[in-house]
Amino acid sequence: MAGQHEVVIIGGGNAGLSLAGRLRRYGVKDVAVVEPKEQHFFQPLFSHIAGGRASASEATRPQRSVMPRGVEWVRDSVVDVDPAASTVSLASGGQLGYGHLVVCPGLQLDWGKIPGLAEAVHSPAGASHYEFGLAAKSWTLLSALKSGTAVFTMPAGPIKCGGAAQKPMYLACDYWREQGVLQDIRVVMVQPYPTVFGVPGVDEELNRKIAEYGIELRLNSELVSVDPAAQTARIQDHATGSTEELHYDVLNAVPPQSAPDWLKATKLPAAGDAGGFVEVNPQTLRHARFPNVWSLGDAAATTNSKSGGSLRKQTKVLAKNLVAVRKGKPLKQKYDGYSVCPFTVSRSTVVFAEFDDQFQPMPTIPKVPTWKETRLSWIVDRDIFPQIYWRLILKGRA
Ligand SMILES: Cc1cc2nc3c(=O)[nH]c(=O)nc-3n(C[C@H](O)[C@H](O)[C@H](O)COP(=O)(O)OP(=O)(O)OC[C@H]3O[C@@H](n4cnc5c(N)ncnc54)[C@H](O)[C@@H]3O)c2cc1C
Repeated sequence: MAGQHEVVIIGGGNAGLSLAGRLRRYGVKDVAVVEPKEQHFFQPLFSHIAGGRASASEATRPQRSVMPRGVEWVRDSVVDVDPAASTVSLASGGQLGYGHLVVCPGLQLDWGKIPGLAEAVHSPAGASHYEFGLAAKSWTLLSALKSGTAVFTMPAGPIKCGGAAQKPMYLACDYWREQGVLQDIRVVMVQPYPTVFGVPGVDEELNRKIAEYGIELRLNSELVSVDPAAQTARIQDHATGSTEELHYDVLNAVPPQSAPDWLKATKLPAAGDAGGFVEVNPQTLRHARFPNVWSLGDAAATTNSKSGGSLRKQTKVLAKNLVAVRKGKPLKQKYDGYSVCPFTVSRSTVVFAEFDDQFQPMPTIPKVPTWKETRLSWIVDRDIFPQIYWRLILKGRA
């Protein structure tokens, strides 16, 4: 056994570090985070990088510098969990024992699920802002386009911040308008659902911007294959069953996503959950079958739309419930399904969507119409929020 800890957290991303910091603040002395990456990423900025509104360096910091004080960082990857023995196996060969386990390794990007997609995003005309190493390439391609066709795609199924698929598109359209070339560019957004996002009020604002930029919105549709050499994207319309080949000059694609494969192979997901998410009670965030296992963030089988914003609430609920269990007290905290998506609808304005797990509006400040396009929401999203993330959220203080 490589070690034994009161709490072991799998994944030092948004969820893992916020929770580790909060548990320390609540008096848990022995917290270990297993995380293989030397760099920590603030993923919401990937959209801004792809839209030419942030530099790549703003989205990353050394993992060492963001690890909350007093938390042990295990630089390794978990490859298996044995919930009966309360141990995790590490890629290096060792094992860690735990009193409580919190599983939050995020999502994997399933490039291989769409034939040709992996090759396409690494080819000269393709990119994706869902991969840090490709986000800057998105902006290189989008900003160089003077005429032709730009295709943006979003897959079906749970993904990180669903609305983020659209963000670089609006940023690019506003740039093309500034450059006087927007009318020479055909912009196509392919998305799998029957409306542009699904939240009343937000949809009206997004549809207004889509009309303003002249974007062709393909609803109920998905990218099913790509031919990178010919620069063609095959789009299927699920409503009619028809398919269409679109030639593109730039393709910015979001890949299908699911829980990491190693997690799918453990006993932690519910039988039959193809996404492989950890089977938790969506309110208490405690595992449905293993009482000393918990999960939050993108890898948890909660009912909300996956986002960092939802973690601000989940972290408090899980930390308080875990501490209560350690003291033999009942679980009192319940996560309410809140989520958020800030749509960068221009280079200086944002439509701020806050909603519940039924996609109904759930504003933090009642009666303030945050879903309306404003400059203030841009400032909060682009300038203030990254600071809150690095200084407070990752320390478990917000
Ligand atoms: C392009 C983009 C834009 C986004 N925009 C927004 C936004 O505007 N607002 C918003 O609220 N959210 C946004 N999000 C979503 C947000 O970033 C995620 O919801 C959030 O990061 C989820 O946190 P997490 O800790 O669950 O996963 P992550 O932050 O992805 O962290 C998971 C961590 O687990 C580690 N890990 C993986 N496998 C293992 C293993 N086997 N062993 C140990 N560690 C492992 C990973 O290295 C990683 O560090 C966006 C995401 C993307 C990609």
